[in-house]
Amino acid sequence: MPDLNNNVSRRRFIATAGATALGSVLLKACGNPPEDTPKVTSTQAAKINLSADQIPEVTKVKLGYLPIVEAAPLIIAKEMGFFAKYGLTDVDISKQANWGAARDNAKIGSSAGGIDGGQWQMPMPYLMSEGIITDNLKLPMYVLLQLNTQGNGIAIAGKHKDKGLSLKIDKAKDFFEKAKSEGSKFKAAYTFPKANQEFWIRYWLAANGVDPDNDIELLTVPAAQTVANMKTGTMDAFSTGDPWPYRIVKEKIGFISALTAEIWKGHPEEYLAMRSDWVDKYPKATKAMLKAVMEAQQWCDNFDNRKDLVKIVSVKNYFGVDPDILEETMMGKYDMGDGRKIDDKSMAVLYWKDAKGSVSYPYQSHDLWFITESVRWGFLPKSALATAKDWIKKVNREDIWREAAKEAGIPAADIPTSTSRGIEEFFDGTKFDPENPQAYLDGLKIKKA
Ligand code: CA
Repeated sequence: MPDLNNNVSRRRFIATAGATALGSVLLKACGNPPEDTPKVTSTQAAKINLSADQIPEVTKVKLGYLPIVEAAPLIIAKEMGFFAKYGLTDVDISKQANWGAARDNAKIGSSAGGIDGGQWQMPMPYLMSEGIITDNLKLPMYVLLQLNTQGNGIAIAGKHKDKGLSLKIDKAKDFFEKAKSEGSKFKAAYTFPKANQEFWIRYWLAANGVDPDNDIELLTVPAAQTVANMKTGTMDAFSTGDPWPYRIVKEKIGFISALTAEIWKGHPEEYLAMRSDWVDKYPKATKAMLKAVMEAQQWCDNFDNRKDLVKIVSVKNYFGVDPDILEETMMGKYDMGDGRKIDDKSMAVLYWKDAKGSVSYPYQSHDLWFITESVRWGFLPKSALATAKDWIKKVNREDIWREAAKEAGIPAADIPTSTSRGIEEFFDGTKFDPENPQAYLDGLKIKKA
């Protein structure tokens, strides 16, 4: 318990100190320790200038998260009082054991002890909407906001050091074929199948001439077990969010072959998506939630705040990680463990803006890439590409993001004018033109489709 008290008082200090810069209005919402959730009354709501049409229909929402950097905007929105500022005074940020549990909890819904939505890998909300990963039960979801770009990596077991496994792999074919011929296929893991982390491993390997379906073995391992499995040698590689790959380096278990920011600079990562029935029922609360998360994202994106960010999220109740390890990754400092060192803030996890545009805005062109990549590997039928536009329109509610951004007073320059971020380029020179996903598929050498 003394630990908890320390955390509370430390967080109270951080919240208060941070709020001073953000204005006295916020100070009111942050004055109480986070555990003592402030209750916003109509008088208090007036004090924080919520017009009648912006007062949310409910004060409560339950959001799931996984203990990786992607979740920071949700945690910060709660701890810094941003949710409360917009009238959401009873937000429950609920740690999920793994992605499967998050999916199952969304299926149950908060009324039965589950969640209303939260943090997702792509294209999970799409697969849930069509019943593909929910036992054929269609659970319509809305993608509302992107939580972050970058901030993920591929960690490799130490025994493979000095074998040329880097962003570009020297003699990759030889290395993986040797392992295969010796009866010990290279095993690479991700935390949930057919989503971001599997895509990053597959992209990296295939771009290096390795067929992930034939030359190696892919498996699902919960994030919490990844470090242990690397230690015992039952796994050769894994891909997940920071700071887990960096832990592998720090604990001298292995090295990082590639940051996902090296594979695809400014790549889309994880999203805030909700059950559509919750959003349809509570449109004002949805926008309040988005405004709070946008404010949190701007706060998180400021590198001056990142030390405080680390203090808030690294505690046991949230990530439960060594703050020093998290801080280095948050500042774009990566000792890759193989002699390579990266010290570049533009390579860190980003929350509001990156070199390519808005981070928070959910570009529909990115959803199309995730669907296209799913077709590439045979996770979705080819026909999914023909119907992708309609599917995306149904699930991706960038229109709600725009409304919330306008209400929040986000400058027009920070609101994308197109639903497409345009042509994307990967480390191997491959290009994805959202206007012609088939050309991307046709151009790829290694694929199932
Ligand atoms: Ca991730």
